[in-house]
Amino acid sequence: MSRLSAQQIQRGDSATIWHPYAPATGGAEVYPVASASGVRLTLADGSELIDGMASWWCAIHGYNHPVLNRAVTAQLERMSHVMFGGLTHEPAVELAQLLVALTPAGLDRVFFSDSGSVSVEVAMKMAIQFWYSVGRPRKQRLLSLRNGYHGDTFGAMSLCDPVTGMHHLFGATLSQQLFAPAPGCAFDAPCEDHDIAQMAALLEAHHEELAAVIVEPVVQGAGGMRFYSPQYLSRLRALCDAHDVLLIFDEIATGFGRTGKLFALEHAAVEPDILCLGKALTGGYMTLAATLCNRRISAGITDSDAGAFMHGPTFMANPLACATAVASIKLLLSQPWQRTVARLHTELAAGLAPARELAAVADVRTLGAIGVIELREAADLRVVQPMFVERGVWVRPFGRLVYTMPPYVMGSADVAALTAAMVDVVAQL
Ligand SMILES: *Cc1c(COP(=O)(O)O)cnc(C)c1O
Repeated sequence: MSRLSAQQIQRGDSATIWHPYAPATGGAEVYPVASASGVRLTLADGSELIDGMASWWCAIHGYNHPVLNRAVTAQLERMSHVMFGGLTHEPAVELAQLLVALTPAGLDRVFFSDSGSVSVEVAMKMAIQFWYSVGRPRKQRLLSLRNGYHGDTFGAMSLCDPVTGMHHLFGATLSQQLFAPAPGCAFDAPCEDHDIAQMAALLEAHHEELAAVIVEPVVQGAGGMRFYSPQYLSRLRALCDAHDVLLIFDEIATGFGRTGKLFALEHAAVEPDILCLGKALTGGYMTLAATLCNRRISAGITDSDAGAFMHGPTFMANPLACATAVASIKLLLSQPWQRTVARLHTELAAGLAPARELAAVADVRTLGAIGVIELREAADLRVVQPMFVERGVWVRPFGRLVYTMPPYVMGSADVAALTAAMVDVVAQL
């Protein structure tokens, strides 16, 4: 049992804690969680919520999983952390070997960091330091997509959609990057010339100053939950090659099965020069991210005067996190996860379909284990959040998006309850 009552926790929270994307005081209610198991969060007042968010898309195996718990405990008894400068350890090596084996053949070098945003910073630094190393120091800018999301640190933020990414708040401190329109071609449609024309024009005009293009392959996550044609990625790869610009895939949201492939890039069979992984990497147990790159980049940087890649987080390759990631990936691969994600897709599509008829709804879309109801107008969290909690589900909308990315272990009855609650809440708006 907790020492503090639910009310004490809430009062302590509102007096001292700043929550994400929230005012310091007077924001929407926050709910104290006492424990979590499987797909259920147990609140401090004893009520249970079916978790439709997988803790921001990370907890693919659900909570309190015996296999992951054992991995943490076993590693804890050896060591929880050692510095990574000059030292190494089995969990890091085992994880790096797994990631190299599972990702496209050319990606053979892994740099670990502590969060998705930092892995994007690392990718940007790799790209820029690579061009500097090979004698092309003017290539320093990046090109990304509107409606993209790549994280909240300064470099990552400079790549996010300039409007929803709040660029006006940070003004001149933000690097000035280039933006192409979000791909207009649907997931199951071809990518026509006009769908990629502006991207092509930007590359043509700016390749002398461009280090890399960065995109979230197939699914644009926090910037709008939009799905687009894998063919866009093949065409983008060809354009980057033609203009000698590196290609970075940010698979922090899409990695580890979420779109129905282990990595979303597999929908297009396209290989990036740099790949960012995070979120579901440890099954949601701990914070860890990885940036993979190919030999051209690692050798380019290594064979230069600088010789070394200039980055090194204090908690780099944390052994607890690496050991948990190894266990999580092996657990995923030991199951028929493609069938599970396909089942979730069928159930999410069927469960959310009735929302199409509702006046407040602009679109309903699903891909893999992702279900999205797009509203015509932004939902007020202070109104909508308690409606979900009353219905026994945890769904956290943002802006016009009411979406779910459930843990893969969610059973059919829980998916039905989750989607019914989403449709019911949207119907009340
Ligand atoms: C969540 C996310 C990030 C940032 O990861 P953090 O761990 O929150 O720093 C970057 N890119 C994408 C695509 C994401 O979904």
